[in-house]
Amino acid sequence: MDINSSNIEQIVRQVLESMNGKTVAPAAAGAIPATAHVAMLTSLEKFEVKEYPMPTVGDDDILVRVEGCGICGTDAHEFKRDPFGLIPVALGHEGTGEIVKMGKNVKLDSAGKPLNVGDKVVTCMIFKDNPDITMFDLNKQNVGGADVYGLLPDDDIHLNGWFSDYILVRGGSTIFNVSDLDLDSRILIEPCAVLIHAVERAKTTGILRFNSRVVVQGCGPIGLICIAVLRTMGIENIVAVDGEDKRLEFAKLMGANAVVNFKNHKGVEALAGGVKDAFGGYLADFAFQCTGSPVAHSNIYKFIRNGGGLCELGFFINGGDATINPHFDICSKEITTVGSWVYTLRDYATTFDFLKRAKGIGLPIEKLITHKYPLEQINEALQTNLKMEGLKIAIVNK
Ligand SMILES: [Zn+2]
Repeated sequence: MDINSSNIEQIVRQVLESMNGKTVAPAAAGAIPATAHVAMLTSLEKFEVKEYPMPTVGDDDILVRVEGCGICGTDAHEFKRDPFGLIPVALGHEGTGEIVKMGKNVKLDSAGKPLNVGDKVVTCMIFKDNPDITMFDLNKQNVGGADVYGLLPDDDIHLNGWFSDYILVRGGSTIFNVSDLDLDSRILIEPCAVLIHAVERAKTTGILRFNSRVVVQGCGPIGLICIAVLRTMGIENIVAVDGEDKRLEFAKLMGANAVVNFKNHKGVEALAGGVKDAFGGYLADFAFQCTGSPVAHSNIYKFIRNGGGLCELGFFINGGDATINPHFDICSKEITTVGSWVYTLRDYATTFDFLKRAKGIGLPIEKLITHKYPLEQINEALQTNLKMEGLKIAIVNK
């Protein structure tokens, strides 16, 4: 018998197969399938999983096998009403996955870390004609001025969103090597960046400090992550306000040391009294408004002491007008307010550290992901999101 190297390989394969009882997986390079699956929103409340040929990977491009992607409020709005007029669109911007192929010019991520096949990555914004929008400049401009994968118009590549099994990250996009974070943490990077940004904005007032009394109104994912971010900064005196006891219990897990259910207080004066009691007889030094409710915005001024501060970040989309009394609410109390929306690129890098620190001090951040669905069940996943059941809902690929 003539034993050359190729039948040695064959023999090894056969031995391994007989040991595992299954076929040996093909080498990684050959593992990229000929087609990719993309959940396309083709009409209101209807995703269809479409199959497209795997695109050619250009010299500056990166092909990523998608592992998972969180569902954002923005996805839910687009699913229900198409406010951005994007249909047909490949949604999903809170995604992460593994590099399976890279163009020859790709060497480093946007923070200067080496990138290799097998690394776990997330993308942030895509620079268009203005490469210095937002680049590490905190107050210049947020991501609102750039594009992100998952909110792009469809094109002939189609692999433009993270609700898919493959995505083509094109040259000019920002990408980060986050191989040192687990899948759940990676899925939470994008929403966490929103809070890192909000807290950075809050710090510009000079009022938010480690020993501040802070009230967080609204305990959806955004409010809950807000509490966790404050906690990792060393702020311990946090009161959470919401109307659901279940969410308030979660707020305690994330680091709130007292909670107020607004349903137990009739009228805003009584509610402000409840907040004051929760702080042991003091109003808040600083408040974060994390709901999209105009009434909640109007109420929050009553929770803040004279000379205190407010960060409004709940009105991610237009939720209507809110009424305030300029004399009582802002002028005579000399309240400093900041608005916060999305994030800058710099906040992304800070977010990776936040996730590690949160774990380090024992905050169960990953519990925010309450539901996981496979790609084929994306319509059910979106309906679950619309019903406001659970907190963060994610699509996770096998
Ligand atoms: Zn989002």
